[in-house]
Amino acid sequence: MKQILWFRRDLRVTNSALLSKAKDEVMPIFIFDTDILNSLDKEDKRVSFIYKSVLSLKKQLKALGLDLAIFYGKPIEIFSKLKPLGFDEILCSCDFDDYAKKRDEQVDKIITLRRYSDSYIIKPWNALKKDGTPYKVFTPFYKNLSFIWESDALEEFEVNKDLKLITYDYEQVASLESMGFDEVELPSFLNKTAHELIEEFSSKIEDYEEQRDIFYKSATSSLAVHLRFGLISSVEVFNKIKKLKGANIEFFIRELFWREFYNYILFHFPKSEFENFNGLEVSWNQNEEDFERWCEGKTGVPLIDAAMIHFNKTGTMHNRLRMIVSSFLTKNLLIDWKKGERYFASKLLDYDASSNIGSWQWAASTGADSVPYFRIFNPYTQSAKFDKEGLFIKSVIPELKDVDPKLFHKEGALANSLFVDYIKPIVSIELSRKRALEAFKGAKNEK
Ligand code: FAD
Repeated sequence: MKQILWFRRDLRVTNSALLSKAKDEVMPIFIFDTDILNSLDKEDKRVSFIYKSVLSLKKQLKALGLDLAIFYGKPIEIFSKLKPLGFDEILCSCDFDDYAKKRDEQVDKIITLRRYSDSYIIKPWNALKKDGTPYKVFTPFYKNLSFIWESDALEEFEVNKDLKLITYDYEQVASLESMGFDEVELPSFLNKTAHELIEEFSSKIEDYEEQRDIFYKSATSSLAVHLRFGLISSVEVFNKIKKLKGANIEFFIRELFWREFYNYILFHFPKSEFENFNGLEVSWNQNEEDFERWCEGKTGVPLIDAAMIHFNKTGTMHNRLRMIVSSFLTKNLLIDWKKGERYFASKLLDYDASSNIGSWQWAASTGADSVPYFRIFNPYTQSAKFDKEGLFIKSVIPELKDVDPKLFHKEGALANSLFVDYIKPIVSIELSRKRALEAFKGAKNEK
């Protein structure tokens, strides 16, 4: 049996379905896919991170007597070139977004693809309601499936030590520069391994439930990027967290289940990548200037601006801030969630189609959610609640560094201050809230 092990969102050797299920002769590969890379900025941080992770994977595979062939190009062209070497199949992990499914369909026509679902613990096709239909709401999904993590340790994959490497003379990707990308500095948490992050988090998990919304603190695990690119398997994360006996782990486990849930929703409802999940037909505001000001962090609302400026600079945003800026865009500015989703996709280090689409639809009240449309975050009360001293805002916006934080927490206070010259807010929170409620109330439901 001759197999290609196509590493994609599973850049690891530990607990790898590919290395466990493979038999006999193998060729592990990674493809820098030009169809994806061509749409990215040459300073995209994710490419630097992936490049670094791929080199590390190559090293780890070498320690097992294997190697990683790193290609640059279109997957179908690469597999067409590899086909004459007589491969029986390609092993890879599942990927359910539209681009990935279409790509895999084409590749499968060249060499048979065998997919493993090892990026998540729940296999979406196995987890249906009693009536045989898929869950559409998180709470029952979690309640009925939480036995999976509560039961014994989840099974981990062992590497098959008898694999033999197939070598092939091909053009190696020499460097990031040769692919047209700059090597950029990464946030410090990305220089840590997933195991180091879990180790650090183990001392914080007790306070996770209480502190996780305080966005100027580092109270969460920062595991999303490592999970996204599979530097650690989700099974291993669950197993490691379960071992933290006595700690208040359930709240954190629920968050991991949100990731499972959104992957599940994308699998069962693939149209939700492009359409409102709940069928609401909202009359969105088409104002491009409002959208640009949101993107640039120039809305005049201090918390929104700080969150977006920080995001543009770092590619990271705390979950609470993601909820606040997405609510502001889709409710106060009444702009289609798809535009916000695309903007996040262009920069977010932990960008993952299913979590991003699901979360944006949740914010816009068009998604898999039982709460109706009147959930609208007020950015002023949110900053009062979670950043009373204005530490986050001050750390990001230099011109607000010496301002009394009380001015951040009350609509109009900053704009009316005689001592501060800051951008005037582009919307009134109260009026735009009413406009959103009217628009959602009047929206037809096509389902
Ligand atoms: P922790 O709080 O430590 O949570 C642990 C893990 O649970 C995370 O690493 C993540 O894998 C998962 N998780 C936590 N919350 C969620 C959630 N609400 N939905 C799905 N998974 C969750 N997360 C992504 O991984 N990729 C995205 O593209 C993404 N886009 C988002 C867009 C919006 C508008 C919103 C509101 C949320 C989005 N999230 C996304 C979810 C969440 O913000 C991030 O997972 C979290 O901030 C990552 O930080 P952490 O690893 O420290 O999380």
